[in-house]
Order: sequence, then C-alpha cells, then structure tokens
Amino acid sequence: MTTAYTWWPAPQHEYEDHPERPGRLRELEAKLDSFGAERLDAAPATRDEIARVHAPRMIEAVEAACKTGGGIIDYAPTFVTPTSFDDALLASGGTLGCARAVWAGAASDAFAIVRPPGHHAEPRRAMGFCLFNNIAIAARDLLERGAARVLVVDYDAHHGNGTQAAFWDDSRLAYLSTHQWGIYPGTGRMDEAPHAKGRIVNVPLPAYAGDACFGQISEKIIAPHLRSFHPEMILVSAGFDSHWDDPLTSLGLSSAGFYAISKRLVELAGEICKGKIVFVLEGGYNPRNVLNGASAVFAALTGRPFADPADKSPHGEPDIERMIESICAWHGFV
Ligand SMILES: [Zn+2]
Repeated sequence: MTTAYTWWPAPQHEYEDHPERPGRLRELEAKLDSFGAERLDAAPATRDEIARVHAPRMIEAVEAACKTGGGIIDYAPTFVTPTSFDDALLASGGTLGCARAVWAGAASDAFAIVRPPGHHAEPRRAMGFCLFNNIAIAARDLLERGAARVLVVDYDAHHGNGTQAAFWDDSRLAYLSTHQWGIYPGTGRMDEAPHAKGRIVNVPLPAYAGDACFGQISEKIIAPHLRSFHPEMILVSAGFDSHWDDPLTSLGLSSAGFYAISKRLVELAGEICKGKIVFVLEGGYNPRNVLNGASAVFAALTGRPFADPADKSPHGEPDIERMIESICAWHGFV
C-alpha cells in the first residue's frame, strides 16, 4: 500500500494582497511528483456531508456571499470570490477522499493538500480564512463509517477554534492543539474545556517555542493523550505557519522540527491505530516553508529520507517545563 494525496490549490480563490492565496502552494506544486505518493482524484463534498458539521443556514450564507460577487465576510479578514463555495466543497471533498481511502485500506496513509483551509470554521460561522472545516467534516464522516473514536492533532500556529467547537460535546472526537498564545483567534487556553479533560487538550505556547519545545510536547502531552484516548484514526491539521520564518506568526519550528513531529505522529499511529493517519493542510504563508513542511510530512509518511534544508530558528527557545507539568496535571496525563 502506498501513501496517497489529494491536491486542490483553488487557483481562483484569491483576494488582492491576501496572504491565504494560491501562491502559497506554488513551490510545492513543482515538486509533487517527487515524493513517492499516489495522487487520488476526489469529488467535491456534498451539502449533506458539510452539514454534518455546519448549520444549513451557515452553508447557505457562504453560498449567497459567493453568488452575489464575493468580498470580505469577517474581520480576519476572510474573503470569498464567486468560485469560493465550489472551491471549499472541493477542499472538503479532497480531505474526505484521503480519510476514506485510509479508513477503507486503499491507502496506507495520506495527505490532503487543499485550500481554503478549515480549522477556524465553526459550526455556525466561517472565519479566519476558513469557510468549511475540512478536518472536522472528515472526522464526522469516519464516525458515520463506523470509527468509534477519531483524534485530531493540530500543529498550526493558530488555535483551531472551529475544530474544538465542532468536537465540544462529542465524546467520540478528541482534539489536541499546539498554538502560539496571544494571537488570532484568542481561544485555546489550557483550562478552556473543563468538561472535556483528557479529550480536548490545548497547549498555548510562548513566542519562539520551537523544535526542542515540540519534542518535549510530543513525549509528555501528545503521546499520553493519543494512548489514553486510543483513536481508530488520527487526523492532523498541518499548518506550516508554526515555522519561525512565517510572516504572520512567531513560533519557532524549523523544517526539521516539522519532520520530527510528523514522524512521531506516524509512529504513534502505527502503535495505536494500525498506522491510519491523514494530514490535512491548514495555514502557512511562506511558500518555501509550505514546500519544506509538506516534504517533511511526505518523508514521515513514506519513510523516505527527508532532505533537511537546515533552516533552524535563530531565536532561543523559552522554558516550557512548568507549563507542560501543569497541562499534564490538568488532564491527568502521567
Ligand atoms: Zn494558522
């Protein structure tokens, strides 16, 4: 079995000077054939599939905003164009295609490289450059297909408020987010979901937390969370804006750091859920970092060597030892 991927760069979903643009994926596109993965064709998601996460009225509002010419729809700013509704259905469909192929055993693992991204989109609100929550839609689809538990790990620099909201009251779905504290959207406090200790896990990070911090988090928080929740499939919100050289944020990962955390997640999937893992593109606004980050994910999935561009962060890392201890204590991880 091989690693699969879907590719939907949404070339017409673009707004003047907006950082979430097709050009994010330009450098990656030229290298897609070199990763040893097999491209899947995917159909657009249906309205019913989108409606497993989003309110019908919200879906209609996004469609209406597109059909009436598009524009800015929230303060992030989130934009839509006349094609964005269909683009968003294809982004969700590309994610569903990967998740279904892995769940059915047609692919060993997969990477949905799609835009617009999804993790900020809440059940009743498109926001944060996101229209429909691709990864939450795929998680609910897996439940429909018989999965008992699905866990999302989100290493985008921003908190995935939309995924957290979609999973809030569903004990079959778990969420773990690492994110820079103090930036958009402002959610993701450690103690934000006291009703869901051990299930909704937030790891808010100081600026410049990078490869070393993420190494500690992988062992002390991510591994115990995955082992205790014991999902039947792991989905990963892979946002490459947690690279130190992202224009929007100030975390500290290097490309080698993306490789390390992605490889660890693949290993844990092998230990816990027969290797069933799907990565889904979220943010990342420097095209070089998107290329290197995606290369790291493919290397982690295929077992091929990672061509490390040696782009270590120039910043020192903060000490997060005590913060990790308090998060573990809050959730009961040992
Ligand atoms: Zn982000």
